[in-house]
Formats: sequence, structure tokens, C-alpha cells
Amino acid sequence: MSLLSQLSRSVRRAPSSQGATLGQVIAFANQKGGVAKTTTTLNLAVAFEELGHRVLAVDLDPQGNLTMSQGMNPDNVDRSMFDVLVHSRPIDEVIHHAEVDVAVSSIDLAGAELALSSMIGRERALQKALAPVRNEYDYILIDTPPSLGLLTINALTAADDVIVPVQCEYLSLRGLVQLEGTLSMIRENLNPSVEIRGILPTMFDARTLHAREAIEMLKENFGDLVFDTRIRKTVRYAEAPVQGSSVLKYDPTGSAAEAYRDLAKEVLNGAKPRAREHA
Ligand code: ADP
Ligand code: MG
Repeated sequence: MSLLSQLSRSVRRAPSSQGATLGQVIAFANQKGGVAKTTTTLNLAVAFEELGHRVLAVDLDPQGNLTMSQGMNPDNVDRSMFDVLVHSRPIDEVIHHAEVDVAVSSIDLAGAELALSSMIGRERALQKALAPVRNEYDYILIDTPPSLGLLTINALTAADDVIVPVQCEYLSLRGLVQLEGTLSMIRENLNPSVEIRGILPTMFDARTLHAREAIEMLKENFGDLVFDTRIRKTVRYAEAPVQGSSVLKYDPTGSAAEAYRDLAKEVLNGAKPRAREHA
């Protein structure tokens, strides 16, 4: 790419939020495992794609669940995000075309935290890797591992926004304070404009009082940041990845697919969390 296009990218990026041609980067983070980060990254990505957007999903979890959810075996990929982050390989080399484009993970990625830790610019490796493809996508969605280590820090540093999936259980809510702390640190040191786009209640079982109470607590603590969309508990979300597909492809007319279409609309329409945070 020419110097001019590099320059126009960085100039465009600075005022941000307008960013008509620059892909918006959204990280999905929660250091707790099993809260539907991967499920949400994939299904929201496919829902965006259905609406006509160009989407890249980045698998930043060494467990490679997102990669597997699109029918690929993380043990068999030639190159993965490890090579991108640690050896500065162009990200195109690890993008596979499935329902959406996926930058794949492999178990190697588990070694990335250690390999990156001694590198200059270790927190910005992903931001740097995404720069050349940001104008090829409308949305770049990053799935993160269940920790607040260097991989997640890379995701939060590269992101414009963060979506936080939270299981509707009391014990899941406590971890949000720790995530908020990490985000504050990222804002102070690495990425001043990163914001929580929304908190997504997942695995919601409307029949239990506990789940309803968990939502109430979320709303008391985070107000408008809590998305109106709730992702209900259903086995469809576990069945779809076995077939290597999103729930939107696996059961296109089911309520599980519809929930992520609703979320896509809410994310695209709602500027309310941003406005609130600045107020
Ligand atoms: P994470 O990436 O946060 O670890 P996953 O997306 O892998 O979480 O989800 C954990 C497990 O729960 C997976 O087996 C997934 O299929 C299942 N799951 C995700 N969302 C739901 C839901 N709404 N209802 C029931 N099971 C779900
Ligand atoms: Mg996951």
C-alpha cells in the first residue's frame, strides 16, 4: 500500500467515529469462560453479514473455538494469529472464507503471550496487524480468551468498542468490576477512546427468578449499557458449532437466530451507550 493511503488511513482514524470506510473494531471480552463470547462473536458476525456488511471475525483464543465453529480444525491450519502477532505475517495469510471471513487461531497462540511479552509494542501487535485490512471490512469482531492477559489487552487496544457478554448469574457479575479496571488501564495507557458498547445478558432463562434478578442487578449497576436484547438459554447454540455453522445458518428461522439478528440491529442502531458514557 502506498504512503498516501497509509497517511489517509491514520488521518481518518484520528477523528474516528465517522469512519465511513474504516472497519469498526469490536472486541468481545469477559475474563470468565463459558459466558458466550465465542457464540456471540460468530453469530453477531453472521447477522451483520446478513445485513450486507463485510465482516472479519478474529479468533484470538488459543482454544480455537471460533475457528472450530466455522468447521475448521485449529490443529491443521498452516498459519494462525500466532504468526500474525509474533512474526508479523500479514493477516491475509490466516484469513479463511467461511460464513464470514475468519482469521484463525491454533494452539500455538497459547505461546503468544510469552513470545510477545519481551517485544517492543507488545500491546499493539493486533492493532498494527489489522491496519492494512481495516478498509476492506465494515466490522472486525475479535473473540478473546477467558483471561485479561496480553492477548485480551491486544484486542482491547485494537478495539473501538467492547461488547461484554455476561451469563445471567450472580457470580458472573462480579468479574465485570475487574474488566472495568483493565479497561481503565487500557484507556489511560494505550487506547483512550475504547468504550463499552454494551453488556449482553446471555443464557437467560426467563423461568428462573435468579436470572431475572441477575438482569436487575446488571441494570442497577450499568444502566443503559445493558442491551435490551437478551440471549435466551437454548441447546441450539451448542448444536450449531458441531455442524461447523452459526445458529443463523443451522436454524435460520428459529428464535436463537432471531436473537442475534435483534442484537445486530440494536448494535447498529443504538448510539446510546456512547452518549451516556460521555455525559
Ligand atoms: P466463551 O467463549 O465465553 O467461553 P462460548 O460461546 O464458548 O463461551 O459458550 C460456552 C458454551 O455455552 C458453549 O458450549 C456454547 O455452545 C454454549 N452456549 C452459548 N450461548 C448459549 C445460550 N444462549 N444458551 C445455551 N448455551 C449456550
Ligand atoms: Mg470462547
